[in-house]
Amino acid sequence: MKEIIPSPPPIVRNDAAAVQALFQKHVVPSYARFEIALSHGSGSHVFDVAGKRYLDFGGGIAVTALGHAHPAITEALVEQSRKLVHISNLYYHESQGRLAEALVNLIGPGKCFFCNSGAEANEGLFKLARKVGHDDGRFEIITALNSFHGRTLAGIAATGQEKVKKGFEPAVQGFRHVPYNDLEAVRDALSPATIAVLIEGIQGEGGVMPARPEYLLGLRRLCDEKKLLLLMDGVQDGHFRTGRFQSFQRILESGAGPGEGASASPSATDRSLAALEGTGFLPDAISMAKSLGGGFPIGAFWVRAPYADVLGAGTHGTTFGGTPLGCAVALKILEVVRNENLAGNARNMGEFLKSGLEELSRRYPAIIQSVRGLGLMIGVELAPDIPRLPGQSHRTQAIRFVNLLHTAGLLTIPSGAQVLRLLPALNLRAGEAEEGLKIIGSVASKLAG
Ligand SMILES: *Cc1c(COP(=O)(O)O)cnc(C)c1O
Repeated sequence: MKEIIPSPPPIVRNDAAAVQALFQKHVVPSYARFEIALSHGSGSHVFDVAGKRYLDFGGGIAVTALGHAHPAITEALVEQSRKLVHISNLYYHESQGRLAEALVNLIGPGKCFFCNSGAEANEGLFKLARKVGHDDGRFEIITALNSFHGRTLAGIAATGQEKVKKGFEPAVQGFRHVPYNDLEAVRDALSPATIAVLIEGIQGEGGVMPARPEYLLGLRRLCDEKKLLLLMDGVQDGHFRTGRFQSFQRILESGAGPGEGASASPSATDRSLAALEGTGFLPDAISMAKSLGGGFPIGAFWVRAPYADVLGAGTHGTTFGGTPLGCAVALKILEVVRNENLAGNARNMGEFLKSGLEELSRRYPAIIQSVRGLGLMIGVELAPDIPRLPGQSHRTQAIRFVNLLHTAGLLTIPSGAQVLRLLPALNLRAGEAEEGLKIIGSVASKLAG
């Protein structure tokens, strides 16, 4: 791996309170932020404005695939910005074509559309599905309970969580939610108006819940049988996070042991798993964003034949989609991931972290109930009723635990009320993984009293 040289400390004139005051005065209060004001970073570490160092296991919510201030990203940004930053999609430029080619090679035959965020990538999938179903009056998309698909009006309609919808009615029509990992529930929810099913391979905001291999294969069969599109939201679990480019590739991989797979019946799964890779499973379209640009905002969707040309000229677009700058960065990240085998690293570091966390769960069962996930997308389910330490006022256990980890120098992301989420950089080093486990262990030990 390339050596990451820490940048010099910035001018430390602004303190956290001054930064927070600026936000209180001028920034829409739509986020409940943690009391941390960050200033700079290097690799898997970030520093706050007072100079305190944190190990970053949140990765900006699965975004900073190569960590912070990676020299290859900096170089790609600088080099490309000297040539062309933006041209609009009225013209061709090589790197958008090259990036589409690279994504197609990683997924399967098809085509790509570029945009700027996960919500926008999903919006593209909704429009694709509606266009496909338009002439026979089909428009309904079935999604999962506890899913997350973004914050636009259609995104919150697609999201299977009431809290994101409240106050924004009337909802965009045509979405129905069913329990995740339940094939029969999808079958029961079908109507003559159904055109598509949309799921995450691993529910991220829903507490890091991986799809069972049987569920994915069953959905594919059901969608083929009923002439529906199978859409996958790969915004969070994609881009090598699980050890393969897309999470379904990892979930359906032969040799995924019972500890790594999500199945409740490991023996039956083991037997059928060898056959799964040969099934050639592919969804009809996949949305991507987050890690795709490693922090530079870029989103995309991939779509296969016979749907790849459905969105013809004039049907869809966005000013900033697939700019020369965004594509140069995304291509550079793919190059680094390949050259440094970061897919393998995500797999190995993920297994290391997971077994370390399982060890902590055995040692502190009253604090850590269970651990799940694939590669570097890990959910730590906290035990119910962990005692509060004095001064801990936050509502959810997840937030209280995350705050204790902050004090101890580790950034993580809460997922729901009970789950701690780890989404570190794909180039996380063994020493950093150990450091993180040590910090989580120290907080668990403190809470266990
Ligand atoms: C983050 C996320 C989105 C939304 O992406 P934005 O870039 O925030 O719009 C959509 N789906 C999933 C699964 C996500 O994790």
